Amino acid sequence: GLGVGIVGLPNVGKSTTFNALTKAQNAEAQNYPFCTIEPNKAVVPVPDKRLDELAKIVNPNKIQHSTIDFVDIAGLVRGASKGEGLGNQFLSNIREVEVILHMVRCFDDGNITHVEGDVNPIRDIEIIETELIYSDISQLEKKIEKLKRQAKGSKEAAAMLSISEAVYKHIEELQPVKTFEDKDSELFIALDKELRFLSNKDVIYGANVDEDSLAQGGNDYVNTLKAHAQEVGADVIMLCAKIEEELVGLEDDEAKEFLTDLGVKESGLEQIIQKAFDKLGLQSYFTAGEIEVRAWTITKGTKAPQAAAVIHNDFEKGFIKAEVISYEDFVALGGEAKCKEAGKLRLEGKDYIVQDGDIMHFRFNT
Ligand code: GDP
Repeated sequence: GLGVGIVGLPNVGKSTTFNALTKAQNAEAQNYPFCTIEPNKAVVPVPDKRLDELAKIVNPNKIQHSTIDFVDIAGLVRGASKGEGLGNQFLSNIREVEVILHMVRCFDDGNITHVEGDVNPIRDIEIIETELIYSDISQLEKKIEKLKRQAKGSKEAAAMLSISEAVYKHIEELQPVKTFEDKDSELFIALDKELRFLSNKDVIYGANVDEDSLAQGGNDYVNTLKAHAQEVGADVIMLCAKIEEELVGLEDDEAKEFLTDLGVKESGLEQIIQKAFDKLGLQSYFTAGEIEVRAWTITKGTKAPQAAAVIHNDFEKGFIKAEVISYEDFVALGGEAKCKEAGKLRLEGKDYIVQDGDIMHFRFNT
């Protein structure tokens, strides 16, 4: 479930973006021999400059990034929740993901038809988001039917019924579940966990622009989108999907030069990946050895033994202690031995909450 689903109307640049992500996957695919390659899923390395800094010190044979899954959910159109096209099937695919990347067309191009006739980011967003709400409404209707039958004999069901009806009242007005007022209640959390409301998911808007707008730092469409995003508390990242596709194949310094020539600081796709990683509540810790310098993905707040389990279950079962060096110390002092000398290597126990960027070495019983 910990993935990002790409949605948006037809012809806004979803496939182009997904192709760029797939290329990023394939560029590192030899590092992930156990990942099956699926046509609509990309397992994408999370850019992290700290890995390069660590590699300069350790000189490993290879570097391995954290990854996140992006899923291409093409096919959402007006009416999807009523079964237009393969609407309902696509909507159920969105239920599986944790974060939505909503691609929005912010470029003019007379040769590329817009399904709604003209370019209008806010209208486009509303079409998609309304379909998500409709889908939530129909899920919730089924749930309420069932709860009504169960409520007679069960207090629990009766309580669930009352929260379900409160949510229903809210979304019936075509408001997203996200703005429902009682979201911190245990009952709501349980309901959301079960139904995985589409209109309650975190959203990143991908503003897809043309080259010129990218170089100029935006355009009117992007400004409108940003204003809207600010109102609803979402993030906007501007990118030119076509350029991202070209960038992915390049070496780091070539890519940098390419971006500089365009007058752009950072790849939009990389920003999206990083933002998504953060929205998923994920962070990385590192292991730094001569064989590999590697980032391991954990959810924020994970304790040392469970972080160790990401490498191997036995590390958790036989966990004794973790040797920990902060990233800053490791880089400032120039590696493990020097950190040890300076007293910057800490021994932490099973309650230690792993921090973003920690360099970890686990001691365990076999
Ligand atoms: P999808 O239907 O949302 O998957 O859209 P596609 O990725 O297939 O893109 C639709 C068309 O728009 C294709 O012809 C793309 O080449 C074109 N396109 C995608 N991104 C851009 C862009 O940033 N600028 C321009 N001018 N065209 C783009």
